[in-house]
Amino acid sequence: MDGTQLSGPRTNLKVQDFGAPMDVLWFKLTRQFSDAKDPVAWFDTGRIFIMLNRSGYWQCGFVIPKGSLRQIRERGLTTLRDDIVKLAPFVAGRVGKLQDWEEIKLLTVQVDRLRQWYRPGLLCLGDAAHAMSPIGGVGINLAIQGAV
Ligand SMILES: Cc1cc2nc3c(=O)[nH]c(=O)nc-3n(C[C@H](O)[C@H](O)[C@H](O)COP(=O)(O)OP(=O)(O)OC[C@H]3O[C@@H](n4cnc5c(N)ncnc54)[C@H](O)[C@@H]3O)c2cc1C
Repeated sequence: MDGTQLSGPRTNLKVQDFGAPMDVLWFKLTRQFSDAKDPVAWFDTGRIFIMLNRSGYWQCGFVIPKGSLRQIRERGLTTLRDDIVKLAPFVAGRVGKLQDWEEIKLLTVQVDRLRQWYRPGLLCLGDAAHAMSPIGGVGINLAIQGAV
């Protein structure tokens, strides 16, 4: 949930925003039976591509500079596919599946936390209290720890 929705006059809870220089393009690619089971990632200067094993498919995340989706769309899907393959040649035969922008979701990255998680009658947990960077994939664990 978007933590900033809980800030402002309706709750009077203040958000400390740490800023995040990135957004993530989130899409699925075909996974073959012979593929590795573990997550895979490629890194280059300012660029990251990750693939998470979801059994029947790879859940993929391509990190882009924050707010750059419009430019990326203007450059076209072919250029995006080429950029992904340059970083992760492994997916060369698979990115052709991406034929429509509808298949590519934008994950807007926020890193923030409430200075105080509660007030009488209201308790904030998980992303509402602290939106985590997707690097490391800790959001769910911390949400549960916070609840416990
Ligand atoms: C694309 C993506 C990938 C991620 N991958 C990972 C990962 O690999 N590992 C990891 O640890 N974390 C990951 N996260 C982060 C993780 O999903 C969150 O940190 C976690 O889900 C936070 O849990 P939550 O209960 O606080 O919020 P949410 O899971 O967002 O739950 C909030 C719920 O409230 C509902 N809701 C919203 N408004 C209302 C309303 N007005 N009335 C009723 N219900 C409402 C929403 O529909 C939602 O079901 C990922 C997040 C995203 C977006």
